[in-house]
Amino acid sequence: MKTIIGNITVECVQGDIAAQPDMAAVVNAANAQLMPGGGVAGAIHRGAGPGLAEECRPLAPIKPGEAVITGAHNLPNQYVIHCLGPVYGVDKPEAQLLANCYRNALRLAEEKRINAVAFPAISTGIFGYPLRDATNVVADTIKKMAPTLKNVKSIRFVLFSQSDLEVYKEILC
Ligand code: ADP
Repeated sequence: MKTIIGNITVECVQGDIAAQPDMAAVVNAANAQLMPGGGVAGAIHRGAGPGLAEECRPLAPIKPGEAVITGAHNLPNQYVIHCLGPVYGVDKPEAQLLANCYRNALRLAEEKRINAVAFPAISTGIFGYPLRDATNVVADTIKKMAPTLKNVKSIRFVLFSQSDLEVYKEILC
């Protein structure tokens, strides 16, 4: 599913964030220590190999809403942008912190002249953010940022499950 927001092509697909070879950057739903974990962080670090954790070590810890950028090592991309989403019910205000993740990730992509970025649904796994609420935050943030983007031309949302994809299709794509 594809839509155009501003000058940006926005796509919503079902798949694995670690298997997006046509995107220059993939976003990691990171933990504060930027280390391998479950879910997205597990898949990204598995695909990238141990060099990623090594590159990440001096950049940690990060705070909710923050993002840092590294190389992609053995992943089929050029960059990984690591974002720490809010833990739902703990890090507040969660909507603002979640929006900051997407904003900061896109800001870093712009700085590195990255044309295509793939995002997972940050905070909606282990961090417990209800998917529909999180997707509304994502949609608002992307709509606000789209007119400001010069280098980023393509944004892909990669959802792990078909039911999550249906929510994204309804709200965003
Ligand atoms: P967080 O800790 O930010 O909640 P998680 O990695 O636990 O991050 O989950 C974020 C979302 O990513 C969840 O919706 C989860 O189902 C999904 N997810 C898990 N593994 C992958 C993957 N390999 N590719 C894309 N999405 C994934």
